[in-house]
Amino acid sequence: MTSVRVRFAPSPTGPLHIGGVRTALYNYLFARKNNGVLILRIEDTDRARFVEGAEEYIMEALEWCGIRPDEGIREGGPFGPYRQTDRQELYRQYANRLVETGHAYYAFDTPEALEELRREYESKGSAFIYNASSRGSLRNSLSLPEAEWKSWLDEGEPYVIRYRMPADEDIHFDDIIRGHVVVNSSALDDKVLFKSDGMPTYHLANIVDDHLMEISHVIRGEEWLPSVPLHVMLYRSFGWDPPLFAHLPLLLKPDGKGKLSKRDGDRMGFPVFPLFWPYGETANGYREEGYYPEAFVNMLALLGWNPGTEKEIFTMDELIEAFSMERVGKSGSRFDPDKARWFNHHYLRERTNNQLALEFREVLRAKGYQHDIVRLEVLVDMVKERVSFVREIWDESDFFFKAPVLYDEVAVRKRWKQNSAGMMNELIAVLEKVQNFSPALTEEAVKGWIGEKGYDTGEIMNVFRLLIVGAMRGPHIFDIIGWIGREETIKRINAGVAAITGQ
Ligand code: GLU
Repeated sequence: MTSVRVRFAPSPTGPLHIGGVRTALYNYLFARKNNGVLILRIEDTDRARFVEGAEEYIMEALEWCGIRPDEGIREGGPFGPYRQTDRQELYRQYANRLVETGHAYYAFDTPEALEELRREYESKGSAFIYNASSRGSLRNSLSLPEAEWKSWLDEGEPYVIRYRMPADEDIHFDDIIRGHVVVNSSALDDKVLFKSDGMPTYHLANIVDDHLMEISHVIRGEEWLPSVPLHVMLYRSFGWDPPLFAHLPLLLKPDGKGKLSKRDGDRMGFPVFPLFWPYGETANGYREEGYYPEAFVNMLALLGWNPGTEKEIFTMDELIEAFSMERVGKSGSRFDPDKARWFNHHYLRERTNNQLALEFREVLRAKGYQHDIVRLEVLVDMVKERVSFVREIWDESDFFFKAPVLYDEVAVRKRWKQNSAGMMNELIAVLEKVQNFSPALTEEAVKGWIGEKGYDTGEIMNVFRLLIVGAMRGPHIFDIIGWIGREETIKRINAGVAAITGQ
C-alpha cells in the first residue's frame, strides 16, 4: 500500500468554520490511523478574499484542538513551502505547460465583456458558459489568429489562462464516500487556471500542490465535489495519477435543512467557530465560551462519522483507533447545540476538583473574590454535577460568596410561618453549641434538636435555606453552612429574620 499523505488546505479568508475544523480532524484521524502524514497547506492565492490574521487563527485553532500537522508552515517539511503565495512562480510553469500541450489557452476577454454576455444570455432565458460551445466566438488564442494574440501578449495585454474542457465527454471518478460519479463535460466551463494578476486560481494551485506534495487522499467538504471533474481532467492533462477522493457531508442547521451558518449560531446562541474571532465583525468561539478542546473534538468527530457502537465518549487516541472512512455517512449531520453542552458537561465532570478549582478561581478573580484552592475544591465538588461550564459554577454558587440581600418572594410567602422567627432563634442557639462546625456535626445537632422538639423537618430546613441562600436552590444546606462557617451562618439567619419580619 502506498503511504498515506493527506492535507488540510484552508484558505485564510476569515475564521475557520467548525465544518472546516471537522475536515481537519478527519484528515488527522485518517493520517494517524494509517501511520500517514498530515500536511497543513495555506491556500492564499485569492488575494481579494485574503484576510489578515486568518492564517494564525487557523493554526491556533488546530493547536487548541490537538490536531497536529506533520508538515506545514510552522512544522517545515520536505515538500515546502506550504503557503501557496510562497510557491507562486511554480504555478506559472505548470499553466504554461498546459498551454504548450494544447490543454489550456490564453483568453483576453474583459470582465465587462463577459458580464455583458452573461446578461444577454440571461435575458434569453439561458446561461452563458465559456466552453466548447462558445469559445470559438470569444477573444482567445484558440479563436484568434496566432499573430494577433501573440502581439497582445507581447504588448502586455491582460489575459487569463483557461482550461480547454473537452466537448461532450463523460468524466468518471470514484469517491470513497459518494461512490461512483459521472459528469458530462458539456455542463462544465473552461475554468480560469491562471489569473491576470499573476496568481493561479484555486483549481490549478490545488492540484499542482496535491501532486507535488504526493497527496494520496483528498478528504474535504462536499462543496468541493463539483470541482472534481475539472481536477480529474487536469490530472489527466498533466499525465499524473489523481489521488483518491473523499467528500465529507455537510454540517446542517440544528432546525432545518441547509448548511450551518454563523447566522444560525447568532440566532440560537452558540458559536460556529472554534476560537473567538477578533477582527472586523467579531464572532464567538468555543474556547472562549468555556468548552474544553476534548469535548469540542469529541462532538465534532461524531458529526458525520459513527463508531458503529453506542460509545459516545472518545479521547483523541480512541478516535484514531476507531476511525475509518467507511463509517463516514453520506448524508449531512445536523448540528445539536445541546449535545455540544452535554459533551462539555461530561468532560467537566471528569476533571479533578483541583483542576476545576484552579479554573474557577480565575472566574472568581475577575469578580473580585479571592479564596484558597482547598476551599474551592470543596465548593466545586458540591456543584459540578449541575454545570456544563466552569463559568456556570458561579451561577450555582454565588451565595457562597455573598449573603442574600433579597429573599425570593414566592418562597417567603409559602415557607415563612408565624413561628419561623422563633424557630430560627432556637436554631442559632443549636448552631452556636456545635463543637466542630462540619457538615456532618451540624446536621447531627440540627436533626437532633428537630427530633427532640418534634418539629417538622421540611418546614425548618426550607426556612433555613431561604435565609442562607435567599431562594430555594443550592446544594445540601449543611454543606453550604460548613463552607461559609459558623459566624457567617448565624449572621445570615439574623439578617434574614430581620429583613422578612421587617424589624
Ligand atoms: N482552499 C480550499 C478551501 O478553502 C481547499 C479545498 C480542498 O481541500 O481542496 O476549502
